[in-house]
Amino acid sequence: MIGHNLSKIKTVRDFDLNGKKIFLRGDLNCPIENNVVKDDTRIEALLPTIKYIIENNGQIVLVSHHGRPHGEYIEDLSLKPVARRLEEILDIEVSLVDCRLDDKKIQEIYENNQKVTMLENIRFCPEEREGDRKYAKKMSKIADIYINDAFGTCHRKHLSTFFIVQYFEKKGIGLLVERELKTYADVLENPSHPLIVVMGGSKVSDKIRVIKNMMSFADTFLIGGGMAYTLMKVKGYDIGNSLFEKEVYNVAKETIEYIENDGVDFILPQDHLIVKDIDKPENKRYSRQIPEGWIGVDIGLKTIENYRKVILEAGTVIWNGPMGIFEKTEYAEGTKLIAKAIAETSAFTVVGGGDSGRAIRSFNLNQKVDFVSTGGGASLRLLEGYGLPCVEILEEK
Ligand code: AMP
Repeated sequence: MIGHNLSKIKTVRDFDLNGKKIFLRGDLNCPIENNVVKDDTRIEALLPTIKYIIENNGQIVLVSHHGRPHGEYIEDLSLKPVARRLEEILDIEVSLVDCRLDDKKIQEIYENNQKVTMLENIRFCPEEREGDRKYAKKMSKIADIYINDAFGTCHRKHLSTFFIVQYFEKKGIGLLVERELKTYADVLENPSHPLIVVMGGSKVSDKIRVIKNMMSFADTFLIGGGMAYTLMKVKGYDIGNSLFEKEVYNVAKETIEYIENDGVDFILPQDHLIVKDIDKPENKRYSRQIPEGWIGVDIGLKTIENYRKVILEAGTVIWNGPMGIFEKTEYAEGTKLIAKAIAETSAFTVVGGGDSGRAIRSFNLNQKVDFVSTGGGASLRLLEGYGLPCVEILEEK
């Protein structure tokens, strides 16, 4: 089950936008180098909502964060390059204004005739993270309708994603958040079986709740990445110096016992790419065992072959977390070949945000899967079976 009742959430399509100001919370936290946006993915993800509002004669006050400036102005975290890139793409003027606004400025923006007014990085204002209600109430006067289309931050209760919402009578989600929620609802509530969950990444602690939630309806879990080693240790395997989260050993043990009683297929890697020193990939080798002093950095060839077979026969595949330290080309083979299998299968395929999204893009396979989520933490929360607080607040009671 997805933790939301979608029929109780309005979308941008439910409002008359004509002549109205729309507070649009987006996630334009794009990588920037030398004042130039290096990757348009987040801008492109928000474009359908921006275009929809403009086509329906609405005017946008666009709000986003960028990085973690902790309430102070940092030139490198300015949204200027994003505003410029948006101007190029939309071919309209996008004016960028300070996020610290007094009543006069708020009134000016509310009354201007600009199609898109963009606020500077909202995290330059300390009120954003503090969730300052007074400032939220004041700022809400800037627009008539509130739309949240920042899926990547829907799990974080900040001023612009959460606290401001109560001051708007008309509020809803944008087209991106709608698509994210509908996709997760489809795969969690009505998946085509077999439903295969491919999980990796570094931390088992982040994924235990996902395993617990999905165990009752997933058919097979394929585990890789650093998280596999804590689970292998629980099962009594030697893991050498591979990643091990001592703090979650007991919870991991409980989870494994639970899984074994439940009978779901929970498959751990049977071989590995191992090294003695992560910075010396020239000494890497494949092995079934992990000898003392060695580190598992990727899944092995036999594991890749087995996982590939399962993925090719799936009805639905959900992938969250890389199979190894894919940022290093020497250790990227497992992640790449699993991404390839996910691209090739006829199953409905969903790639979680964060590192798996980055990985699939780095292999140029993102166009070959059905959906790449734009939120890492937010998608994990949905897979855990919880709702997102910034969406919950938009649900009609
Ligand atoms: P997460 O944020 O938990 O999805 O973890 C993603 C990170 O896990 C990536 O930066 C990978 O480099 C890292 N990772 C994957 N496999 C391993 C491994 N075997 N050992 C250490 N780190 C890993």
